[in-house]
Amino acid sequence: MKYSSLVEVYEKIESTSKRLEKTYHISNLLKKTPDEDLQTIILLIRGRLYPDWDKRKIGVASKLVLKAINASSGAGINKIEQLWREIGDLGLVADRVIKTKSQSTLFSAKLTVAKVFSNLRRLNDMEGAGSVDRKVQLISELLSSADEKEAKYIVRTVLEDLRVGIGDGTLRDAIVWAYLPIDVKYNPENVSIDVDREKYNEIVNIVQSAYDKSNDFSTVAIAARKGVSELKKVGLIPGKPVKVMLAQKVLSVDGGFEKVGVPAELEYKYDGFRMQIHKSEGKITIFTRRLEEVTKQFPEVVKCINEHVKGESFIIDCEAVGYDSKTGKYLVFQHVSQRIKRKHNIQELAAKLPVELNIFDILYYNGEVLLDVPFEERRKLLEKIVSEKQSEIILAKKLVTSDKKVALKFYEESVEKGNEGIMLKSLKSVYKPGSRVGFMVKLKSQMDTLDLVIVGAEWGEGKRSGWLTSFSLACIDEDGNYLETGKVGTGVKEKEEEGLSFGELTKMLEPHIKQESGRAVVIKPEIVLEIKFEEIQKSPTYSSGYALRFPRVIQVREDRAPEECSTIEMVKEAFNNQKKT
Ligand code: ATP
Repeated sequence: MKYSSLVEVYEKIESTSKRLEKTYHISNLLKKTPDEDLQTIILLIRGRLYPDWDKRKIGVASKLVLKAINASSGAGINKIEQLWREIGDLGLVADRVIKTKSQSTLFSAKLTVAKVFSNLRRLNDMEGAGSVDRKVQLISELLSSADEKEAKYIVRTVLEDLRVGIGDGTLRDAIVWAYLPIDVKYNPENVSIDVDREKYNEIVNIVQSAYDKSNDFSTVAIAARKGVSELKKVGLIPGKPVKVMLAQKVLSVDGGFEKVGVPAELEYKYDGFRMQIHKSEGKITIFTRRLEEVTKQFPEVVKCINEHVKGESFIIDCEAVGYDSKTGKYLVFQHVSQRIKRKHNIQELAAKLPVELNIFDILYYNGEVLLDVPFEERRKLLEKIVSEKQSEIILAKKLVTSDKKVALKFYEESVEKGNEGIMLKSLKSVYKPGSRVGFMVKLKSQMDTLDLVIVGAEWGEGKRSGWLTSFSLACIDEDGNYLETGKVGTGVKEKEEEGLSFGELTKMLEPHIKQESGRAVVIKPEIVLEIKFEEIQKSPTYSSGYALRFPRVIQVREDRAPEECSTIEMVKEAFNNQKKT
């Protein structure tokens, strides 16, 4: 398939903010995509080279791309840099200089989707001496055969910043429109669809469920093309991470009972980080909540699971809580988060900051998928296969009750022990990967916080010069657009030893700088901060329509991918909740 067919669709979807219109264009592209290109198209349409569960990144810096644009256009580094400063988007810079070039040169072979994909994939495999030059070569080879529009999207894909705005929901629906047995009539005039809603929702749910289990839209699209029965076969595979089920929030025990029904299982809400632990063919693999593999970082967990959980193969869900090896006291997430990033001296850190596993769910056991098994039975199975050992592996402390007073006492007991609050879970519910359905809810003691992504900053002045300061924060909407909610500096320290510092944050953010003008810096959404605030106000200043008053940084959320930050709905909900209290 020609790369230009994909580029045509990028252009169309970039020029509209209407989700149905985007869905329509993508579904048309999918219909005409030959089988052999389907996997690639599904990835490239969202500017990706790997499925969601595979966390490899292209990791090419803007400066290298600049060299490649220069090598293929001969426009001169100074001119390209100047244009970059003016326009801000290297993709548009490539568009501009290649347009100028193409007026004078007649070029060359048409690019195919497969060729673009293969060159981009090779970028990731290169390391060591000479790799920069070879990377420049791979990119400039593509740019030399590209027209200006193609160049724009090649550059944006390399920089992992496609800017066309396709959310998971849009791609899912496009797969439904393209391949599944339902008649969707799209009316371009008023951008609406005519469809049998009930049947449509049923099919959308089947596609969504296949995606939640596989975390891979390519697998889903290939199965969907073969039909609904193939789609239903897409399942969990131990060893491949699955999206975790998320909780809704409640403000009271009553609210919790109302959501999950009575009697309900109450559990301590431990303050650590989520671990999804797989065993398959004798091998243990551990994933974080953002589905990054961290097996190497937690050798003692591998050993503990081998010794304390019976079974040939399984996927279990738990919270790993750090504690101080000297005092035995639980530590807040901030401390243990060091273990997620640690690449060296792992044993040493494991001895200093051990974790206790609090097991609370199981999704797969000895060849059987348990997603549709009621929660109370999944818990019973856990009780059979886990042999508990204090401070290493325990089942989440539970209580089954319908009584509000008993529940409140349990909540107080949990908070007294240093936990965040309690979870309330419906006994009969299934496990829904990836969803914030109301099968489990959380009741927390602490004031609300939001997890927001840094999308901009300012270079500091005076004693803060050399550091990024005043961080612009954003939440996300359902199409994957980041919407600003204000700026924060408070809570970040000048001295490293006092906690999260400007120096440390600057180091984390620098590789993600997209654009600079004067002191202002635009940053690619990568780093998520947990933010406390006094109040939320409506505000025309920021694109979310809301502003946080007196925000304060609590910590970096290493376990959160940028697309998992707080949604605009959560910001609205926090705004509405504060009005009630
Ligand atoms: P938070 O920031 O409140 O932990 P979150 O967005 O990370 O929330 P939610 O799904 O909203 O995740 O809240 C549930 C989280 O609480 C789980 O992701 C898990 O990490 C943690 N947790 C602690 N104890 C339990 C438990 N007993 N059952 C389920 N989740 C638990």
